Amino acid sequence: MNACKAALRSAAPDIEIWENEPMSRHTTFAIGGPADLFLLPRTAQELSAAVAVLRGMEVPTLLLGNGSNMLVRDTGVRGAVICTAELDDVRTGEDGTLTACAGALLSRVARKAQRAGLTGVEFAGGIPGSVGGAVFMNAGAYDGQMAGIVCRTDYLDGKGEMHTLEGAAHGFDYRRSIFRDHPDWTVVRSTMQLAPGDPAAILDKMTDLAQRRRDKQPLNYPSAGSTFKRPQGYFAGRLIEDAGLKGVSVGAAQVSEKHAGFLINRGGATCEDMLRLIALVQKTVQERFGVALECEVRII
Ligand SMILES: Cc1cc2nc3c(=O)[nH]c(=O)nc-3n(C[C@H](O)[C@H](O)[C@H](O)COP(=O)(O)OP(=O)(O)OC[C@H]3O[C@@H](n4cnc5c(N)ncnc54)[C@H](O)[C@@H]3O)c2cc1C
Repeated sequence: MNACKAALRSAAPDIEIWENEPMSRHTTFAIGGPADLFLLPRTAQELSAAVAVLRGMEVPTLLLGNGSNMLVRDTGVRGAVICTAELDDVRTGEDGTLTACAGALLSRVARKAQRAGLTGVEFAGGIPGSVGGAVFMNAGAYDGQMAGIVCRTDYLDGKGEMHTLEGAAHGFDYRRSIFRDHPDWTVVRSTMQLAPGDPAAILDKMTDLAQRRRDKQPLNYPSAGSTFKRPQGYFAGRLIEDAGLKGVSVGAAQVSEKHAGFLINRGGATCEDMLRLIALVQKTVQERFGVALECEVRII
């Protein structure tokens, strides 16, 4: 890793580099062992220099947004993690567009749109992810998904060169986008097409959606939201509840008593606990209802 650090320092002298950084500090599950190298670029130039060096040296590289859809193994991440948290600029345009850098949190994006009198992104205000992670996942809730608003994305390819995707080229589908097929691509910024709206009405909608989350979701425990994708024709949470799994634990990993679709960390859960609980839920639901539950959470 020393040669890699030296190359990074030479390409991006001011880039923040930490060694053996525990991923449990950077995931909403609060689970995960150390990353060999953890990089915090502050500019798009630093990001592209880091991508070019790491991909050029064939160092395994993981892009991290807000870590709200990741379960990282207890052994950690070999290679480098690039965290986009510092790349968080959000701007609105005259034409009803909003452009946000990859690390901008969706809560900030939604607030900025509301203040500018732009409607369309309220659904995302309570999703605790970054723009990069949300585009990668085609995050969605209630009446919306990223696919409905994202019209343009600038990204870096595996060599660190910038390209632009427009419209259907994003390949959006349920909880996926073209970025899933190209793990060496990095979302740098995305533009969303929004519509003019009344700021007070937009705020009311955001407040209502936030309340609905607080009422239904176990937000006081570390989790990654819904652990499983919605199987066609069913709700994962309902199947898990009907299988009698609410409250079931493996170590400190537990099926939430409040919302069975959420697996939570009751405090000190390991990735191994969580993986065993995921397997138990999948096996039980398969046996009881013949439905295969697929993980929405990315296991790293
Ligand atoms: C309490 C709670 C509620 C949630 N509710 C919802 C919900 O209603 N709807 C929903 O869809 N999700 C929900 N989620 C899950 C999660 O917030 C979303 O999937 C979110 O979009 C993930 O964004 P992130 O920045 O945290 O991504 P991360 O977890 O950091 O990363 C997710 C994936 O995206 C990749 N990635 C991240 N940034 C980039 C980038 N710049 N370029 C390329 N790849 C990148 C990562 O490598 C990884 O594979 C919830 C999670 C929690 C904890």
